[in-house]
Amino acid sequence: MKTTAVKDGDEYVLNGAKMWITNGTVDGVETGDAYLVEASVYARTGKGSRDVSLFLVEKGMKGFSLGQKIEDKCGMRASMTAELVFQDCRVPASNLVGEEGKATLCMMRNLEIERVALAAMSLGIARRCVEEMNRYAKERHAFGAQLNSFGQIQRFLAESFAEYQAGRSYVYQVARNLKLDSVGNGLDADGVKLYCGQMGKNVADRAIQVMGGYGYVGEYNVERLWRDAKLLEIGGGTNEAHHKNIVRDLSRQVGAAGSSVAWQLI
Ligand SMILES: Cc1cc2nc3c(=O)[nH]c(=O)nc-3n(C[C@H](O)[C@H](O)[C@H](O)COP(=O)(O)OP(=O)(O)OC[C@H]3O[C@@H](n4cnc5c(N)ncnc54)[C@H](O)[C@@H]3O)c2cc1C
Repeated sequence: MKTTAVKDGDEYVLNGAKMWITNGTVDGVETGDAYLVEASVYARTGKGSRDVSLFLVEKGMKGFSLGQKIEDKCGMRASMTAELVFQDCRVPASNLVGEEGKATLCMMRNLEIERVALAAMSLGIARRCVEEMNRYAKERHAFGAQLNSFGQIQRFLAESFAEYQAGRSYVYQVARNLKLDSVGNGLDADGVKLYCGQMGKNVADRAIQVMGGYGYVGEYNVERLWRDAKLLEIGGGTNEAHHKNIVRDLSRQVGAAGSSVAWQLI
């Protein structure tokens, strides 16, 4: 958010850096072809604006380069993460997307959509983990009995199934109500990602436990799914950010339009 843009004739000059950018590079050498980059537009006088503008920055533009490449990620290793650097990067004014200073709404709306999508990712992880541990617990015998006959294993499986189903309902409910052309879905976008992010990781964790040694190694994929699931408690907003946002939004509703339970109506 500290990246700045200064208008210079029919160009904008961008300075700053964006860290942790998913697909910041695809081959570890070059940037991707095009990015939508947010920057605060500053007047030449140095007087700044807090309003954010959106620019289309393309590969090869002067001053645009790849910074650090993030190595050794815990999970999500199929996508590369990198830093993008803008050093006196000159962008044609025609690459301003929308109106100057009007990108905050786009940014917030995109964040809402992203959070629902990330919740859906957690859901997929949980579903696969339930399937894997269910199959394994049925096939594996230990101490002369099917694994799924042990109460502790039943608890892992049953709770995972019920939590997955609860997450599924929440994801579909929020996705159905999502207004793609406006903001205003923040409370549930935060809520669904908070719930599903933790649910997906917990279910993956249980799957590893149910599968014992095989859970901990790659053969059944659940250890990879756990590593992928962990990111969903961090990327797109941390759990802590969701806690704060949810409480802020809930608190705004107290007394609003004579009701403190507007959230029940959606
Ligand atoms: C693999 C990966 C891909 C990513 N992709 C993108 C991307 O494409 N685009 C993008 O913009 N970002 C991306 N991110 C960045 C991601 O959104 C941030 O890492 C995340 O928001 C946390 O910010 P931070 O790393 O600066 O942690 P910090 O802000 O340093 O936070 C560290 C810890 O402190 C907690 N914390 C911080 N402030 C508070 C507070 N006020 N109250 C309570 N707790 C607090 C956080 O919740 C966290 O647990 C990616 C990150 C990763 C790891």
